[in-house]
This record gives sequence, structure tokens and C-alpha cells, in this order.
Amino acid sequence: MPTASTNRFLDFVPAGVRTLKPYVPGKPVEELEREYGVRDALKLASNENPLGTSPRALEVVRRSLSGLERYPDDGAFALKSKLAARHGVTMAQITLGNGSSNVLDLVARAFVAPGNEMVFSQHAFLLYPIIAQACGARAVMTPATGWGHDLDAMLAAITPATRLVFIANPNNPTGTWLRGAQLEGFLQRVPPHVIVLVDEAYFEYAIFAQTGAVDYPDAMAWVGRYDNLVVTRTFSKAYGLAGLRVGYAVSHADVADLLGRIRQPFNVNSLALLAAQAALDDQEFLTRSQATNAQGMRQLNEGLRGLGLSSIPSAANFLCVDVARDARALYDALLRQGVIVRPSADMPTHLRITIGLPTENERVLAALHQVLKS
Ligand SMILES: *Cc1c(COP(=O)(O)O)cnc(C)c1O
Repeated sequence: MPTASTNRFLDFVPAGVRTLKPYVPGKPVEELEREYGVRDALKLASNENPLGTSPRALEVVRRSLSGLERYPDDGAFALKSKLAARHGVTMAQITLGNGSSNVLDLVARAFVAPGNEMVFSQHAFLLYPIIAQACGARAVMTPATGWGHDLDAMLAAITPATRLVFIANPNNPTGTWLRGAQLEGFLQRVPPHVIVLVDEAYFEYAIFAQTGAVDYPDAMAWVGRYDNLVVTRTFSKAYGLAGLRVGYAVSHADVADLLGRIRQPFNVNSLALLAAQAALDDQEFLTRSQATNAQGMRQLNEGLRGLGLSSIPSAANFLCVDVARDARALYDALLRQGVIVRPSADMPTHLRITIGLPTENERVLAALHQVLKS
């Protein structure tokens, strides 16, 4: 690759951008098959829905392939009105994104200027530090407690320069979750100049796991009470639409208004708009996804115990497993067995495994058994 070292423009690239390391996604199946010459690879690395996509969403997409010459409805009337009714908010409080990661980026760009601070937790979603760095913010990472968010530490890290706090509930990659009283107590104490973004990418799984022991809160219910609260959801996980890219935020209308000014026009494509709408109506698929996940979690945990391994208690659709040895080496060994899981740079003895179908869970357990033996 030719270097551009003689080009002065490189000298002027903002430091945050110059030193940025891009997000590393889960290895695609095709890449593993190409590189390792294996066939029938199994990917349990990106928390995708093992049941596929909502059949109702698929049907709508198939029927809508004519009309792609037209731009999508930029106001997204149909999807926004459905979401507004569902969450008991107005359409003006909803911001759609090209995946919820697009919305996270919009919030940072709207509120964080170079030199401001952004607070997030150790072992939280790896996109948060990337977003902070890209907008020139000072990334303030607070230590985790029990692998999850330490809200007291996060509160203590807030200064007059703080503009944004990111909280993933449940958290990725650890699967940990915050209880209702904990999270609301935090919202009550955060100074009003700070935006709190609660990222609920795994909401549908966590709410299904809801029991006395889980006590998982629906932060969406608090948006009317805290003007500085932004809650994001996605269609990528429980609704099985990761490939179409659609997610959203619910916030105060003033926040949504700002996000609407900086987003690109037509940032959600027409098929994604239609598919998301249909998926919201497909309760049958959602329930099946939730039940399959709950059952798969029991199966995986049991199997892991049989292998002498333990996982961090999870409210999501993945398990963060303590493999008690170099996780990177184990990850590579699993790749050679045709199984893709996810290592995490800041957790050297853990692997994140997406919960799959019963046969897929069996296969990852068998592959683990095989590589742990040798
Ligand atoms: C998967 C995930 C997202 C959602 O990404 P999309 O852009 O909506 O596909 C957001 N936050 C967390 C914590 C995630 O794990």
C-alpha cells in the first residue's frame, strides 16, 4: 500500500482519529471457511438470532422488492407511529438509526465536543470508547464491579466537563445487568447537564428472564421523568434483523430534534423500515426467540459445568465463559474445529459464546471438550 507520509494532510488529522483502532466484529463464517478450509462453520460470535428472521418480516421484504428505485420515507411515519403507540411516547421522541450503533454515534456527535468527557464502564460494549475517541472526547473508563457497571464509580467520575454516560443494560460482553432500583437511583443523582444513554440492545431477552432474582428494569418507562435520559433498542438481536440495520432511541423531544438535525437523510433503508414494522407485530417469533434462548442458556450452562467451566450470570443471549486459561489460544483452537466464538481484548481468560439452537449448543460444547482435552 502506498504511504501518504509526504502528504501534509495526515499531520492535521485529529489525534483521536489518527490513533483510532476500528471495531473488530465477529469473524464471518465465509472468512473462516476461506482461511481454514473448513465447511459448515458455526458462528456463535455476534449475538445473532439462531432462529433467523421473523417470518412476517421476511414476507414483507420479499413483497417489497419492487419500488427500490424510490427513496425511503424519511419521516418513517408508519414505523414511528407503531413505536410511539407501543412505548406510550410521541413520534417526536423517536430517532431511528442504521442499527442502534448509528444512534449511539448521533448522540455523541450531538452532545460531545472535543475536550469534553464521556463516561463508560470497563468491560462494557467496545464501541463506546471508539465513539468517544472519534469525536475527540476524553474517554473516562470506570472500573467494573462483579464484571458489570459500578454506578457509584460512574457517578464519582462525572465532572463539569462530562457530557455523556453510556450504560449497556444488559451489558455486552459480560451479560450482567443492573437492577431497577440501582439504575433509577443513578438517574436521580446524575447532574442534569449530563446525558445518560441506556443501551437496551438485549431488552427482549432480559425482560423474558425477568424474575424476582433478575429484577430487570424497562428504562423506557422513565423517559418522561428524566429529560436527560436516552434509551436505545435494536431490531438486530431478538427480532433477527441484524443484516438490515435498524435501531432507535426514545428520548425527550428536544433531544430527538437535535439528533434529527445531524443524522443523514434516509439513514434507514426502505426494506428495514418495513421489516421492523412487521417484526414488531410478530409476537409469535419473539416469544419463540425468547424461549429458545432461555432453554439454550440452561443447556449451555449445564454443559459448561460438565466441562468444569463457569460463566458470568447473564440476562442476554450470550454467555461470557471463564475458560481459566489463555482465551485467545482456545478461540484459535475452536476456529480449527469450525466454531467461531468471541474473545475480548480486555478479558484474557473469557470467551463470549452466543446462545444457539440446541444442536449448535451441543456442537460448541463438543468442540470445547475436544480442545480442552488436547
Ligand atoms: C449488538 C449491540 C448493539 C446493537 O447494534 P446494532 O447497531 O443495532 O446492530 C448495541 N449495543 C450493544 C451493547 C450491543 O451488543
